[in-house]
Amino acid sequence: MEIPKISIRKIIKNYESILFDSYGVLFDGEKPIEGSKKLINYLNKINFDYFILTNDASITDQERSKIFIDLGLNIDSNKIISSGSLIFNYLEQRQLTKKKCFIYGTESIRKNLIDKGIILLNQRDIQKSEIIIFSDVESWPSIDNLNQLLNLLYEKHKNNKFIRLILPNPDIIYPVGDSNFNFGAAAFVDILEKGLYRIFGEKKEYKAIKIGKPSKMIFEIAKMRCKSNKIIMIGDQIETDILGANKARIDSALVTTGINNTDKNINTLYKNNQLQPNFILESIRL
Ligand SMILES: [Mg+2]
Repeated sequence: MEIPKISIRKIIKNYESILFDSYGVLFDGEKPIEGSKKLINYLNKINFDYFILTNDASITDQERSKIFIDLGLNIDSNKIISSGSLIFNYLEQRQLTKKKCFIYGTESIRKNLIDKGIILLNQRDIQKSEIIIFSDVESWPSIDNLNQLLNLLYEKHKNNKFIRLILPNPDIIYPVGDSNFNFGAAAFVDILEKGLYRIFGEKKEYKAIKIGKPSKMIFEIAKMRCKSNKIIMIGDQIETDILGANKARIDSALVTTGINNTDKNINTLYKNNQLQPNFILESIRL
């Protein structure tokens, strides 16, 4: 079945809230995508309800807002919902804020959590962790760390203890510039999970808890913050933006400016209904 096309004007007319993915929709990792400045200015002018839903867990929402503004995208931090900012929500919702955590992540995310009262351990105390958070890959080092983690979790298991693993950003890869990609933290957690399954079998205790798209958590928070229930998600990744919207029963439009900006026929990418967007959006130009 051909997916119907839609324009951004029609989206603004037919919906009352828009959830935007960031990378591949509004900017390409380096510069704004054509039309995004005008669109954001217009949405701000008419006071349209919108949020940026991003899996990036490397910086705070305030820092992200500043980057957007420097790029010419006038987006306030309270319009940003990031998987990084939801780490605390997750810990709070499950009454885990007093647990000892170790985090692979940037200084700003660490500081943000410490400011909120979370106990973060140093690398030398990693074996005391009750929770390990894989927030960002930039600080991710070598295979030695993976080996250390694998053996740490194995040791704990032998003593009937578990460490909860949290992966805010489940993206395996993310785009950098026009035509490059990098591996995200999820690629490394995937390896770790596979190693643990190989030892223990597929137990949920060894599966990292995912916060970002396509997990329900980020969409549920977004739904709560939207002013209406006529919501559409605009994204470029089928396995995160579109699948997550479908699971959360939110309409979705797939843009062809981001990760799907390849020669292959995008209609062949939808393996099942869960991955199928409601619309194709060829451009966010007004
Ligand atoms: Mg994207």
